[in-house]
Amino acid sequence: MSTAPDNHPEASVLVIYTGGTVGMAYNRRGELVPMNFDQIRRKMPELRQLNMRVEVQSLGQPIDSSNVTIEDWLRIAALIQENYARYDGFVVLHGTDTMAYSAAALSFLLENLGKTVVFTGAQVPVGRIRTDARRNLITALEIAAARHPMARTVRVPEVCIFFNDVLIRGNRAKKVESQQYNAFRSENYPPLARAGIELEFNDKQIRLLPAARLRVHQRLDERVTVLPLFPGITERMVRAQLEAADLRGAIIETYGSGNAPTAPWFLQCLREATDRGVQLLNVSQCEEGRVMQGRYETSAYLTDLGVLGGDDITREAAITKLMFVLGLERSAAETQRLLTHDLRGEITIV
Ligand code: ASP
Repeated sequence: MSTAPDNHPEASVLVIYTGGTVGMAYNRRGELVPMNFDQIRRKMPELRQLNMRVEVQSLGQPIDSSNVTIEDWLRIAALIQENYARYDGFVVLHGTDTMAYSAAALSFLLENLGKTVVFTGAQVPVGRIRTDARRNLITALEIAAARHPMARTVRVPEVCIFFNDVLIRGNRAKKVESQQYNAFRSENYPPLARAGIELEFNDKQIRLLPAARLRVHQRLDERVTVLPLFPGITERMVRAQLEAADLRGAIIETYGSGNAPTAPWFLQCLREATDRGVQLLNVSQCEEGRVMQGRYETSAYLTDLGVLGGDDITREAAITKLMFVLGLERSAAETQRLLTHDLRGEITIV
């Protein structure tokens, strides 16, 4: 579908439609189910008023984002690659539930991104009177097409999420709210822009245009897991996860600034995992702050066991970064170097 105005559109944006509440409607049983993009096109005739060429490609059958898969992420990356030269920017319409995971995954897959990829969606479907779909989608389109006023270069060469008037870096985002409109937050990195009467870009926080050409990766390793710690966790449960067949990497979700139990059985489980070549990454359960292995006795031993500190990374970025880095199939030393480096603005190293 194209919404091209009659003459001289100022920009062109490709919308990649995956599904999500934004385009859902109620079925007979009163459950929300994904509909195709026509639903949005019919309810948002104002899309034609934008002075830009907006074209839409659906990823396939629209899905609730709880069903998103690694294959979907690779297909979104491939679609962006195929259409990279034809559009000024990209908007990915996506359910909110896993949007932060998808945006983080895309940030790793799209190396040297020189155009804007904005994820957005809605908390209330486009057909409902109090929908947030309009605000989110219209402004996301404007951001995807935004250029610096003087230099006319791309304003936000990043994968980001626009929601409820705030633009945040995709690999810093977390879904924090399922009832209110402000579904996403980035605790450890400032917003890239705010939408009031004007769009106010926070240029100092936005990544610079890359010098090299876009490189699209097509491999993520799914042999990873997340192990959230809790008081009372047993050896049997830890072993069940860390001894899973062909596991290659695990996020250990620790307490506070990266602390974990010092019980001998726990150390032994971690040691056996790293000896088997499983890469362990320490990510805090806290939403703000950072992992500092060695600050307390209860984290000092982790470094010796080969557990890497995740700095201020989110769980969403950590699991997708682990999939990405393991998918590169580098040596153990290079894998560790990449995991502890800032690849796409996902961590702040102090
Ligand atoms: N369950 C929906 C989804 O993630 C929620 C949403 O879109 O807000 O697809």
